[in-house]
Amino acid sequence: MPLAHSLLNSLESDFSDFTFTLSDSFEWHPADAAITYDPNDPYFESRLLHELSHAILGHQSYERDIDLIAMERDAWQHAKMKLGPKYKVEVPGDIIHHDMDTYRDWLHARSTCPHCESTGIQTKKQTYQCVTCRKIWRVNEARTCSLRRYKLDQNK
Ligand SMILES: [Zn+2]
Ligand SMILES: [Zn+2]
Repeated sequence: MPLAHSLLNSLESDFSDFTFTLSDSFEWHPADAAITYDPNDPYFESRLLHELSHAILGHQSYERDIDLIAMERDAWQHAKMKLGPKYKVEVPGDIIHHDMDTYRDWLHARSTCPHCESTGIQTKKQTYQCVTCRKIWRVNEARTCSLRRYKLDQNK
């Protein structure tokens, strides 16, 4: 895919603080300022700009799941409004909506009480408490968006 490679080349020279590494998924790793990419993704350019946006916006870890959702939204916004026009990439609204829906489903699944199915509130990074029956449950940590996205897809 020559176009995608030319975008990658431009980004690598414009953002030399970050490393871009071939992988089987798109991820941003703040600890080593590394972006991984999957060259076979049909939305290669959009996803690359999305991960780069996490990097540019300085996204690190998060305490609350809703903070993660906000970071995802901000990264898509930055990719579409700032990087897209600059690098002549049209980021499709569909992919943003699909991604954000996936996050909302993920948040809903995590925050639903396994005992009574009421909604819980997050009390700690990996702990929720039901507002109705007061039971507490733990959730897995899943730091990268793509990891979570693929897990969700597998469960469907
Ligand atoms: Zn993301
Ligand atoms: Zn409950």
